[in-house]
Amino acid sequence: MRKFDGDKLVVATHNAGKLREISALLEPFGIAVTSAGELGLEEPEETEDTFVGNARIKAHFAAKESGLPALSDDSGIMVDALDGAPGVYTADWAETPSGRDFPMAMEKTWTLLEEKNAPLPRTARFCCTLCLAWPDGHDEVFEGKVEGSLTWPMRGDQGFGYDPIFVPEGFDITFGEMDPEKKHQMSHRADAFAKLVKGAFA
Ligand code: IMP
Repeated sequence: MRKFDGDKLVVATHNAGKLREISALLEPFGIAVTSAGELGLEEPEETEDTFVGNARIKAHFAAKESGLPALSDDSGIMVDALDGAPGVYTADWAETPSGRDFPMAMEKTWTLLEEKNAPLPRTARFCCTLCLAWPDGHDEVFEGKVEGSLTWPMRGDQGFGYDPIFVPEGFDITFGEMDPEKKHQMSHRADAFAKLVKGAFA
């Protein structure tokens, strides 16, 4: 596995929530972080139907455009009773003509579960694939997940995306109600990040 031995990397995201979480995870390593958004890079189209495929597209695009190693995150929530949906299409379910509307996407998800009379607990997992890509075209991929279940109504205003309806296994609060530091210790992103650190930073 190739090691990261630089002191600067681009986080290949335009998503403020992901950037905040990835920057916090990178902080202890003294790596200077910039983002695709800050560099004014375009957002490449996510044309693959897997987390790995889309993570690769984003990291390689940012690495090539910036000339720096780039770290991307492709993530989403998979709901068992919906056969794994929304999965790689999690962000798409929130699209509206005036931007992303996650409360609307969460309501749509819960309504589908109600219509199906899905049994409780409505198990789900957040999945995260991180891709570290270098400008020469090499990459390393790391995958993480966190198991839990969905609840309704939405609770909490921490985090982002689907956090207000996701209760991680062993807890009775949602990620939206959880202290961000605690979420950073146990999330799908933290799981993938621990593998990245072990593989590419150690
Ligand atoms: P993408 O990886 O940019 O395609 O988007 C993934 C989507 O999954 C995000 O826009 C969020 O809605 C959702 N998601 C990913 N990670 C989290 C998380 O930690 N909390 C809540 N929602 C998340």
